[in-house]
This record gives sequence, structure tokens and C-alpha cells, in this order.
Amino acid sequence: MNTIDEKLQPILSTVLHRNAGDPEFHQAAREVLESLGRVIARNPEYSDDALIERICEPERQIIFRVPWIDDENHVQINRGFRVQFNSALGPYKGGIRFHPSVNVGIIKFLGFEQTFKNALTGLPIGGGKGGSDFDPKGKSDREIMRFCQSFMVELHRHIGEYVDVPAGDIGVGAREIGYMFGMYKRLNNRFEAGVLTGKGLVYGGSRARKEATGFGTAFFVRSMLAAKNTDFEGKRVVVSGSGNVAIYAMEKILSFGGKVVACSDSSGYIVDENGIDLDLVKQIKEVNRGRISDYVEMKGQGCHHVKGGSVWNVPCEIALPCATQNELNGNDAKVLVENGVIAVAEGANMPCTPEAVHLFQKANVLFAPGKAANAGGVATSALEMQQNASRDSWSFAQTESRLEEIMTNIHAACHETSEEYGAPGDYVLGANIAGFVRVADAMRAMGVI
Ligand code: GLU
Repeated sequence: MNTIDEKLQPILSTVLHRNAGDPEFHQAAREVLESLGRVIARNPEYSDDALIERICEPERQIIFRVPWIDDENHVQINRGFRVQFNSALGPYKGGIRFHPSVNVGIIKFLGFEQTFKNALTGLPIGGGKGGSDFDPKGKSDREIMRFCQSFMVELHRHIGEYVDVPAGDIGVGAREIGYMFGMYKRLNNRFEAGVLTGKGLVYGGSRARKEATGFGTAFFVRSMLAAKNTDFEGKRVVVSGSGNVAIYAMEKILSFGGKVVACSDSSGYIVDENGIDLDLVKQIKEVNRGRISDYVEMKGQGCHHVKGGSVWNVPCEIALPCATQNELNGNDAKVLVENGVIAVAEGANMPCTPEAVHLFQKANVLFAPGKAANAGGVATSALEMQQNASRDSWSFAQTESRLEEIMTNIHAACHETSEEYGAPGDYVLGANIAGFVRVADAMRAMGVI
């Protein structure tokens, strides 16, 4: 495993102590601190004025009660969160997650990751994240609406187009953003389009936002493969998840000539050796809001569903974890390496455990961390903010070509930084350092804040 520079060890100790119950935040902070030893060895001024300690401490953390009434007329209570992590580069920016696993530690790790991810895009956005332990599964449309409205009744006073701009994440898509935007507009009596991103197209959304995270991951992997003189053509690909990120990563990979043979949801995975029928997955997930097992019933022959289990047992050359944090562990990594994987890219946020990342890097598997590989979603959110600010609406092609350019630049920044700091091809190190330096330079310019 990597080690932490002794000058940074006390900073990690403070993080562990201050956030005692937040293991995912420890994991994310440790990984970034492991990369920063090389920066302070070369530029000691980056450890002056407790700069790194300040970067590890959120600027503001908001926790609130969300009461709502279910269809049986019972009062339900959930907990809402918004962690405004860092605003050195722009307004706090990052998604809202609705999932029963959400707690302050999860939101904190996501906000921390978001800060560096957003810096890597090169666009003027700070880092934040929000969410609730509300479980959207099995809820009626009306229940979703009442929950979103109650969530926004509190959140509205903390956000704004120049303050904090939330968007979607797990469990939050265009429907939820619509309900939240409606309540924000009503409470503030102003049509402030730039306060949320991932909006519907008719009221200020951006073309290609829905596709952006998955497309961006595929663009990043294409650059990573190109740096090794290879491409997607004819390669077997396994994707975990079947939400927004997974679906549009698969779509772009198919257009690049890759063959996607498996994808999953929380109940299990499907394998289709003829190649996943993406239209069918879209019908099941985007229209029916159903389970991935429905695929086998609807498709008939040539495919099968495995209940539970690990999708990473399916042999592939390229693996894209696009579901959730820590979904791919050391055992999964071992199996993937044995089966000949050549590239792994995180479409989700921190889906690989530290042990898995270590095994991939040891085996010389190309590995792209989420803060680089999945930055296309938030980058396109920033393009949505640009369109809102200029009261404009760009074509799909124009938006997608900006996204492609941004992902190519992120790849180049990570790759060049890894070379500059003596670890060529280490995208974890490259992403952490390139993101850190941008945030750190802005913070140093602003004094002790
Ligand atoms: N939730 C996405 C992410 O993890 C997108 C955030 C956004 O668009 O603000 O980056």
C-alpha cells in the first residue's frame, strides 16, 4: 500500500479524529494525502498556513429534518444534508443523493472528491454535495414530489446561482430536480435558472447533460487506451450499474466498437454474450423504473440473470464500475486481473476499494479514478450554468463537443502531472495533484480563509 509523507501524517490524524465515524471520508482523504507528499517535497509552500488542513475541513455542513406525508397519510421523517466543501474556485457545486445509505460521512467524502473533480474540469466551480437517507424505491410519484418539496423548503435558504448549485446523483434525476426547482422558484419568487442543474430541457436544462457522465467516462477511457496505442474496437466490456452513468457509458462504448456483455443493479447482474441490448435496458430502467432481471424475461434467449453475486466475475478487458462507492473490492480486482482486464475506469464515485486500486496498479492495469473519469457530468452542469447565465441553449453537438474537449484535457492534465511527478501513467496521483494545485493556488491567493 502507499504511505503518507510524515509531514502529512498529523493532518490525516486530525481528519480521523475530527470525523471519527466517517470511514468513507477517511478513505478519500487518505488517498489524496498519499499523493501530496511529492507536491510538498517539491513546493514546501503548499503546506504553509495550514493550507492542506483547511482543504480537508468543509467550509460548512448543514443537517436538517425533512418531514413529509406518505400516501397512507403517515408522517415520515428523513434527514437532509448539504456539505459545502470548498468555494475557492466558484460556487459550491455537486449533486444530491437520495439513498438509504446516506449519512454525513458519505456526503462529506463525496463533497471532498467533488472539490478536486470540479477543479480538474478547469471550469469555475467549487465543491459540495448533498442528499438524504430517503429511499425513493417503491415510492409513488406524489410521495417523491412531497419529499422533494419538503427537502427544498429547508435547502433553498442555503443555495443560489452564485452560492451553491446542486444537481442530481444516485436517486435524483430530472423528475426530482423538476420538483425541487418548482419549490425553489415559488419560495424565492424568481426564475433563477442557474440554481440547479440537470433541469428539463423546456425550463433551462442543457442538452447532453443526461448523457454527460457516461459519455465522459467513455471519452476518458478512449484517451487512456490511445496513450497505449489501442482502442475499444472488439474489446469485451463489463459495466456495473444500470442507471444514468452506466447506460450512457454503454451507449458511447458501443459507438466506439466495444462489446458490452454485462451490467447490473442492486439485485444482481445480467450477461448477454450477443452484446447488451441497450434499448431494452433503457426501456426497463428509464421508462418502467424496473429491475434488471426483467431483461431476461423480455429478451428471451442468449442471456441470463445472476441474483446477487459479483458482475466482476464476468471476464472482460475493460471494466467500468458505475454503481456506487466500494462496490469493487480486492477479491473482485484479483478476478479481473486473472481474467486479463487491461483498463478500469470509475464511472461512480470511489467504487474501488484502496486494495482493489493497489492490485490494479501493481498489475499495470490502466486505472482511472472517478474524480477524473466521471467529471463529464459536473463539467456539463457547468456548461448548463453558462447557458443559463447567457440565456442561451446550445445544440447537442456543440455541448457534446465541449464535453469531449474537457475530458481530453482532463486526461492530458492527469497524464502530464503523473509524468512531471515521477510516476508516469499513475492517474490517481496525476488527478489528485492536478486538482489539488488548482484549489490550493486559488486559496493561497485569497489569504487565510
Ligand atoms: N453527481 C454528479 C457527480 O458526482 C454530478 C454533479 C453535478 O452535476 O453537479 O459529479
